[in-house]
Amino acid sequence: MAKVLIIGAGGVGTVVAHKCAQNPQVFSEIVIASRTKSKCDAVARAINSPNISTDQVDADHVDQLVELINRHKPQLVINVALPYQDLTIMEACLQTKVSYLDTANYEPKDEAHFEYSWQWAYHERFKEAGLTAILGCGFDPGVSGVFTAYAAKHYFNEMQTLDIVDCNAGDHGKAFATNFNPEINIREITQNGRYYLNGEWVTTKPLEIHAPLTYPRIGARDSYLLYHEELESIVKNFPSIKRARFWMTFGQEYLTHLRVIQNIGMARIDEVDYNGTKIVPLQFLKAVLPNPQDLGENYKGETSIGCRISGLDKNNRPLNYYIFNNCSHEAAYKETGMQAVSYTTGVPAMIGAMMFLEGKWQRPGVWNVEQFDPDPFMAQLPLQGLPWEEIIGQDLEVDKIK
Ligand code: NDP
Repeated sequence: MAKVLIIGAGGVGTVVAHKCAQNPQVFSEIVIASRTKSKCDAVARAINSPNISTDQVDADHVDQLVELINRHKPQLVINVALPYQDLTIMEACLQTKVSYLDTANYEPKDEAHFEYSWQWAYHERFKEAGLTAILGCGFDPGVSGVFTAYAAKHYFNEMQTLDIVDCNAGDHGKAFATNFNPEINIREITQNGRYYLNGEWVTTKPLEIHAPLTYPRIGARDSYLLYHEELESIVKNFPSIKRARFWMTFGQEYLTHLRVIQNIGMARIDEVDYNGTKIVPLQFLKAVLPNPQDLGENYKGETSIGCRISGLDKNNRPLNYYIFNNCSHEAAYKETGMQAVSYTTGVPAMIGAMMFLEGKWQRPGVWNVEQFDPDPFMAQLPLQGLPWEEIIGQDLEVDKIK
């Protein structure tokens, strides 16, 4: 029986709140706080439970966060605001002696650059305070790291290659929309690609490398090599991996819109002067694009996200292993009012919180998910709406891509 404080009431925060409320034996009290309190109130109304309450906070300010946390005294803060708020929320958790969990690593607002160093730098302070910080506990990062840890524990003596494959085969019927926060999404995709090879990071031009990959019950989809944050922690935590890459599917229509957005300067993250008012073009674009939270109603199709791993099995014989989850947009919407991209992020965040509160993932310091025992988390995934499947001994398709 424990109280959690969820910060952020977007697509992911909504799913986390629904899933916590579905598990009252673990989450006896839920507080959801965000910049816009009316959004928290709407989530609480939809859930309609006496165990959920709402509050307001600007999470860019440590003093406001400290007051909020002291007002509610939770056992854990679940940060599902934006990556910009990670450090202020971690700082406030240290000041109030509360443990921490998030789903995306820190990014400075004025630089489209993400890496774990800023958050890993908090390790000693969390350790000394006896507090746990669980980083990157969504799907990717999150389940992708847990899948990798599960493969290492149960199947491999030596993992050699890892390809994380993320397909959204859904159709929301809009000409252009992003599936999660447009600002964060466009910043991520328009960066250079990067992958890990023999101890070095290899940089590519944005979306330069792509190939069709076949996704279970979906078929072949053009998949693009991107840099994704969990690659950084996974190659550190599993040093036998020689090559690690991340792939995401995009349709041609999406890419054409993205190219136009960039060419006309709307992806810029620096301030421009517009009639005496300073605006950031990408933030303005977010205001006019469809809200990802409103995509759910007409969303059809599935996501499929998994890890394709090769290496030597427990008897040192070559092994190809593919572990994945397919998630239906319609089923996610029916259950939580949100589409599958928010659902596949919010469910693992709730399970990570459950792992912490049940004492299974409690260790003072700052940790990535793959550093904990994957088994109890894997056992919860199907129970909480994200069943996983394995394909053993088949061609992983990824070796032929150059
Ligand atoms: P949304 O934009 O839908 O929601 C973000 C929420 O955070 C909004 O409620 C917003 O409030 C709130 N917020 C923003 N700034 C502040 C602030 N300064 N103080 C308080 N609240 C604030 O995003 P998503 O729900 O789609 O994504 C949430 C997080 O999940 C992001 O960090 C994203 O990167 C991550 N994510 C992780 C994935 C994974 O698999 N690991 C996949 C998808 C997302 P307001 O409404 O007022 O703007």
